[in-house]
Parts: sequence; structure tokens; C-alpha cells
Amino acid sequence: MDERSAKIVSITPVGEETVAIELETPDGMVAKPGQFFLIRATVEGEEFARHYTMSSPDAEETFELTVGIDPEGDFSPWLASREPGDLLSITGPFGRIFYDGEPDSAILAGGPGIGAGLGVAERAHRDGGQTTLIARCEPDDLPHERRLATLASSDVPVFICRDERSIASAVSAVMAERPDTQWFVFGFRPFASLARDAIVDAGGVGDDAKIESYG
Ligand SMILES: Cc1cc2nc3c(=O)[nH]c(=O)nc-3n(C[C@H](O)[C@H](O)[C@H](O)COP(=O)(O)OP(=O)(O)OC[C@H]3O[C@@H](n4cnc5c(N)ncnc54)[C@H](O)[C@@H]3O)c2cc1C
Repeated sequence: MDERSAKIVSITPVGEETVAIELETPDGMVAKPGQFFLIRATVEGEEFARHYTMSSPDAEETFELTVGIDPEGDFSPWLASREPGDLLSITGPFGRIFYDGEPDSAILAGGPGIGAGLGVAERAHRDGGQTTLIARCEPDDLPHERRLATLASSDVPVFICRDERSIASAVSAVMAERPDTQWFVFGFRPFASLARDAIVDAGGVGDDAKIESYG
């Protein structure tokens, strides 16, 4: 797949250590919520490449990436400090974990994965599907708080979970009503593994869940 340039339209803080980066969609690029991109850049003379997942419901004119800033990280602090008008070298989209028009979906999303979870939930809701978003966040930081509130106010069930127990009970509540729902999971490995366990413990099939682990 070809590498191309995408111009940054805006960078908005959406949490304590999280930014949403809106990019102009390059000509001819088609992407689905949940797919990810490879971004390459030279930072202080060293080349880096990192993956970021689309967090908007579509990529018609622009698309969004949600970046969790790891203050110790080599790349995310650099990426988050770009400015509107800057160009990013991107390749993609990649990935088989994406919203594919499922009429009934439930999403477990942790940390910056809440962005991707929102992209899928907003698209599913817009398409007339039934969907639920379970967001796991730290006690003092809820990425994309406003978008979560907007989604909840449009009658999509949104669970905000601060610990493992509340995730398990939210997953059980969804499974009790919609055992055949398509599960999606977005987040770093410890969260992805915890989410899979919660689905299995509630009677779901782990291998049927669409899980994107951020490593
Ligand atoms: C498919 C996929 C999708 C992804 N989507 C997203 C997304 O949508 N949003 C998002 O925020 N992230 C996403 N990620 C993660 C992202 O690609 C980066 O890994 C993340 O931004 C951290 O990169 P970094 O360069 O800032 O940190 P890194 O430099 O990679 O470091 C990460 C941590 O490891 C520590 N570390 C690094 N090197 C060492 C070492 N040698 N010894 C000890 N500790 C070390 C650092 O101190 C830091 O705390 C995704 C990953 C994958 C695989």
C-alpha cells in the first residue's frame, strides 16, 4: 500500500493525556471505523513508525485519530505536538477489525481506544443499528467525555467503568439482553485481554469478538 501525505486540520485535547487529530482524507482513500494507519516520521534524527486507529465514524472528507500521549514515549508526544497545516506520512488503512454494518454491536474500549469505540458506535447508530459502548478510563480522566455524553443523549447505552468489576457487570447486562451481539474491543493489551475475559465469563465466544490490541 502506498505511503501518502495527509494534512492536519486540527488537533484538539480530548482528555488529560489524549488528543484528537483531524486529517484531510487523501484523494481516493476509503477507510472503515476501527481500521488503523501506520504513521512514519523522523523525530530528532531517528525514524519511527507507529499505528493509530481511526476514531471518526467515516473518512468522507476528513478522518480522526485519537492519540494517547505516553510522556515517556518516543513518538506519541511528538505526534501530539504537531500543528494544523502540518503533513503526516500515512499508510493504510489496515486491519480486519472494523465495523462492517453489523445491526447489533457492543464495544469495549479502554484509554485512547475510546476514540475508536466512539467511531464504531456513532457509525452503527447512524446506520440505524443497535449498539452499546462500554468505556474504561482512569478515575480522573475520561477521554472524549463530550462525545460520550452526546452519544448517551441519543439513546445509545454508554457505560463508564472505572474498574474491572464494573466492566464485568456492564458486559453481563448487555449479554443478558443481546447474547448474539457482535463484540468489538479497542485498547492496549492488558485492557484487551481483560475485555476478552469479561466477554467469555458472561457466556460469549472470545474468538468471535473483533479485538484490536494496541500492543
Ligand atoms: C493496531 C494498533 C493500533 C493502535 N492504535 C492506537 C490508537 O488509536 N491510539 C493510540 O494512542 N495508540 C495506538 N496504538 C499504539 C501506538 O502505535 C503506540 O504504540 C503508542 O502511541 C506509544 O508509542 P510511543 O512511541 O509514544 O511510545 P514508545 O516509545 O513505543 O514507548 C511505550 C512505553 O514503553 C516504554 N519503553 C520504550 N522503550 C523501552 C525500553 N527499551 N525499555 C523499557 N521501556 C521502554 C516507554 O517508556 C513508554 O512508556 C496502536 C497500536 C497498534 C498495534
